[in-house]
Amino acid sequence: MSMLLDLSRLQGGGERIDRRIPPDSFETPAEDFRVVEPVQLTVDVRRDGEKVRLVGRVATVLEVPCCRCLEPFRTSVDNAFDLLFLPASEAGAAEGDDDRQLDEAAVNASFYEDEAIDLAEVVREQFYLALPMKPLCREDCRGLCPVCGTNRNEATCSCEQEWVDPRMDALRRLKAGGNH
Ligand SMILES: [Zn+2]
Ligand SMILES: [Zn+2]
Repeated sequence: MSMLLDLSRLQGGGERIDRRIPPDSFETPAEDFRVVEPVQLTVDVRRDGEKVRLVGRVATVLEVPCCRCLEPFRTSVDNAFDLLFLPASEAGAAEGDDDRQLDEAAVNASFYEDEAIDLAEVVREQFYLALPMKPLCREDCRGLCPVCGTNRNEATCSCEQEWVDPRMDALRRLKAGGNH
């Protein structure tokens, strides 16, 4: 399904979008995340000359691999956004043309081309913003055994007792040396 927002229809006006989008409309690398529930998108589109402002909210459930044990887990997303779009022809101006007075908001603006904004792109960006830098399946995830790779949330491996934190090992050697 096309998620292109046609701006030419919005001359001097606005529009409210309220859509439920099937999860398979968003192709993302599996190592990043998968969309597993329909995406609820509401956007108020306001056009003022060439400026287009999108104020909205996006909600769904994502499946994300845990950064410690690599098991995928589900996390809900409910992100509010307020984005300013300018025509791509303004992109150069935003990079510091002294002759032009650009308001501060324009520095953080996104850009649109051919009188259209791809809402799928907007939504995908919100997903990335919503995800934590280090996603954890649970606060106390025990991760994988660094020796044999066993998921230590699910099983105890035999190397677990033998494995010594290398930092502790170095400390122990240091102490042993000092006793001589
Ligand atoms: Zn985990
Ligand atoms: Zn192990």
